[in-house]
Amino acid sequence: MAEKQPIFILPENVQRIIGKDAQRNNIMAARLVADSIKTTLGPKGMDKMLVDSLGDITVTNDGVTILEEMEIEHPAAKMMVEIAKTQEDEVGDGTTTAVMLAGKLLENAEKLLDNKIHPTVITKGYRLAAEKSQEILKELAVDINPEQEEVLKQIAMTAMTGKGAETVKEKFSDIIVKAVKQIAENNKIDLDNIKIEKNKGSGLAETELIEGIVFDKEKVSVDMPDKVENAKIALLDLALEIKSPEVDTKISISSPEQLQGFIEQEEKILKEMVEKIKQAGANVVFCQKGIDDVAQYYLSKEGIYACRRVSKSDMEKLARATQGKIISNLNELTSDQLGFAKMVEEVKKGEDTYTYVRGCENPKSLTILIHGGTEHVLDEMERAIKDGLGDVASALREGKVVAGAGAVEVELARRLREYSKTLGGREQLAIEEFASALEFIPITLAENAGLDPIDTLTELKAAHENEKYAGINIFTGKVENSLKEGIIEPLRIKSQAINSASEVAMMILRIDDVLASGKSSSGGMSSQNMPPTADYD
Ligand code: ADP
Ligand code: MG
Repeated sequence: MAEKQPIFILPENVQRIIGKDAQRNNIMAARLVADSIKTTLGPKGMDKMLVDSLGDITVTNDGVTILEEMEIEHPAAKMMVEIAKTQEDEVGDGTTTAVMLAGKLLENAEKLLDNKIHPTVITKGYRLAAEKSQEILKELAVDINPEQEEVLKQIAMTAMTGKGAETVKEKFSDIIVKAVKQIAENNKIDLDNIKIEKNKGSGLAETELIEGIVFDKEKVSVDMPDKVENAKIALLDLALEIKSPEVDTKISISSPEQLQGFIEQEEKILKEMVEKIKQAGANVVFCQKGIDDVAQYYLSKEGIYACRRVSKSDMEKLARATQGKIISNLNELTSDQLGFAKMVEEVKKGEDTYTYVRGCENPKSLTILIHGGTEHVLDEMERAIKDGLGDVASALREGKVVAGAGAVEVELARRLREYSKTLGGREQLAIEEFASALEFIPITLAENAGLDPIDTLTELKAAHENEKYAGINIFTGKVENSLKEGIIEPLRIKSQAINSASEVAMMILRIDDVLASGKSSSGGMSSQNMPPTADYD
């Protein structure tokens, strides 16, 4: 008999983890991700300070920001980070909730694995539970319409709690609701139409909503007016220059007269350009490209306010706010293509100079100008406001909200347990674990607020015998009807969170073989990065 040769089907540098080890390793990594943001959940959640390789500091309470900054390597952990990103893109809030849920689903699945329940059975149970959850969520959701301003403000406040905006939350929520309602066009809400600018200097209370656009450009020449009332604005996507700087032109001049003639010719063209702008009736010019010195001179002479190299996105916002058209050929400029604003003004704030375009009529694009003491504060306030905007927008898009403060999770868990009893088989166990994963949200809310988590959950469950909206108000420590308390969240936060958390948990559970090509040892699968699975109890 010939000696048996080992057969290699994979390149030598591929790291492979098979079966249970792969499963445990992935679950462990995913749980570590969830654990790392657990303490930030809810109004009393703590902040994290992240320092990147360049020494830049971020202080935040925002799940997705933390995870993005952490530069995670492990493949399963990366899948968890993806949950947060999807949640952020789709809803704009609820990232911590979604990731924690996925972590807890995996942790509970591990218990079932320990009891020799096959991953296929677990994933089937989880799928049933996720589907049933969506059904129950719809039953629990409450209608909302754009006229319910107070409720919309409560949604904005719920979104912002815990993000350091406590002292100004009334003001911020007012701004958020006004802004979203203003840019909404028949239920279509594109948050890109709300521009957020930050200004370092004065306090948060100075934060303002501007019915128009603020951008960080100054007028091109000091000889131009500081402000223009009843501004008629030309929006130009063309250079007020003779030759574009990208093109190299060579001219040979043989006499002084020729040079003089050439300069005069240039001046004439630029003067004509300004003349066309004036003819159209414009007293403000926002130009996406450059403005030549000579053109600046003539513009100033006409008392026209002008900015150059305005970014494309600002130009588009200006068009929506002032209802002007962006023109790329000066010959096409007529008075009806001009935008309008009550006031265009150069304003110096702190170290920066801005152009304010305010008093636009029914603007479809707006600016929120955040004022704050330091960059770190400004950044965190921007995240808070974005969460508020995201929540109000998604509440209005779908027209449905749910009770926060753990209310919806506890009720879901209760109804999922009832549902599981109607099923036979071992999937039932998985559905029960799914239910208790949901309860981890109120448990953590309580824990982060220094309340006893077990007592709180017991109290909540008892309250849900006859109050489906009962939640734990972290500020009072009382179990109360969250809707009445004004702790309200858009339905979409929860449906999206449950969806992506369960999908990723199921995906990770189905993996029993990890092949990592060994480009570098930092592939994340190596035991240096991960504690050995055996260490885990
Ligand atoms: P996420 O990233 O998931 O949005 P947050 O830190 O914003 O995490 O916390 C959201 C959770 O805090 C939600 O479950 C919400 O219902 C809850 N919450 C908000 N305000 C209160 C409050 N006053 N009392 C209790 N829970 C609250
Ligand atoms: Mg939030």
